[in-house]
Amino acid sequence: MSLIVIAIGGNAILNPERGDPKEQQEKIDETCREIAKIVGAGHDVVLTHGNGPQIGNILAMQEECGLVHPQSLDIIGAQTQGMLGYLLQSSLKNMLLGIGIKKEVITVLTQVVVDPSCCSYENPIKPIGFYFPEERAKVMMANGMKMVHDAKGYRRIVLSPMPLKIVEESTIKLLLSMGVLVIAAGGGGIPVVEKNGALIGVEAVVDKDLTGGLLASDIRADILLILTDVENASLDFGTKDQVDLHEITVLQAEKYIKEGHFGKGSMEPKMLAAVKFVRSGGKTVIISSLDKALLALAGTAGTRVIA
Ligand code: ADP
Ligand code: MG
Repeated sequence: MSLIVIAIGGNAILNPERGDPKEQQEKIDETCREIAKIVGAGHDVVLTHGNGPQIGNILAMQEECGLVHPQSLDIIGAQTQGMLGYLLQSSLKNMLLGIGIKKEVITVLTQVVVDPSCCSYENPIKPIGFYFPEERAKVMMANGMKMVHDAKGYRRIVLSPMPLKIVEESTIKLLLSMGVLVIAAGGGGIPVVEKNGALIGVEAVVDKDLTGGLLASDIRADILLILTDVENASLDFGTKDQVDLHEITVLQAEKYIKEGHFGKGSMEPKMLAAVKFVRSGGKTVIISSLDKALLALAGTAGTRVIA
């Protein structure tokens, strides 16, 4: 049996720009039912998750309310870790009990040290949150917010630095050794930098796939299982020449990344995480969809990246 880090997308929990609590609970339950089956098959699981839509919703509440001070992105990241951690922790425990497994499930509020040299707008940036019309965007930009413009309107852009080190790594390992199912590094982790020996939160978001890969390497997981909303990573994605990938080597993955087959900020970070994990000694990365998770582990669905 394997130690598996499962990374689920924020969109798997909530449709973008929607926040219906009933729909959210249904999606969480659906996700946790599948994860419970993986635990039921005898695997040890550490769970991590995205938070894109949830961050977007909190930012929208801040923007629209105007009564309270807006909070910085590290704090909002922590809010989403708590909120999604609670929902996943309770649902997962229920789903496990439902199949006769009594297991502790614990969410670890996780900070991740990021590369401070990354913290400039020349470096990786990520659009987040809702789209705004020009008038409104102008006011936001005058207040110091960085925004980009595309066909749908204006959207806030933030730094997305490389994750270097998971601060709570030893606690996660300790819980794992006690047989606890750990939920960690949600939303890519709360970004912090080290300054004179202290940790200080930064205004950024970290890619959950890259932190998921780091987590998987740290705990020496056998498999990094990235569950998203497509069954496979593909070449020439979205064109008539689309070819779904089944099993590729890291060398092939690197070549396809260079050739630009994977969407920036969507499939590309999953492939980058895959390459890094396998290059650091990990055995297998599987990219697939939630409903195909068990088949993907059995080798009959999804895209595998191996040495
Ligand atoms: P998640 O929330 O799971 O991280 P993302 O939206 O970030 O989800 O990434 C999954 C999306 O990546 C898919 O829905 C698909 O539209 C997009 N994508 C971009 N390039 C590719 C590709 N080459 N193969 C498959 N999907 C791709
Ligand atoms: Mg993503």
